[in-house]
Amino acid sequence: MAYKIDKDTCIGCGACVEACPMGCIKMADDGKAEIDETICISCGSCKATCPVDAPVEG
Ligand code: SF4
Ligand code: SF4
Repeated sequence: MAYKIDKDTCIGCGACVEACPMGCIKMADDGKAEIDETICISCGSCKATCPVDAPVEG
C-alpha cells in the first residue's frame, strides 16, 4: 500500500518532497507532486506535512 497525490488538491508547494524519508516524491512537469509508489513505505510524513492534505493512502 502506497500513498498517491490527489492532483486536483495539490498546490505544488513542494513541502512533501523534503518531508519524504525515502526521497520518492518529485515535482512533475504539471507542477504537482508525484510519488514513486514502488519506493513509498506509507509512513504518512507527506500527508502530515502537506498544507492541503493532498497525499492519500492507497
Ligand atoms: S508516505 Fe512516506 S514514504 Fe510514502 S511518499 Fe509519503 S513521505 Fe514518502
Ligand atoms: S505538500 Fe501537498 S500541496 Fe505541497 S507539493 Fe506536496 S502534495 Fe502538493
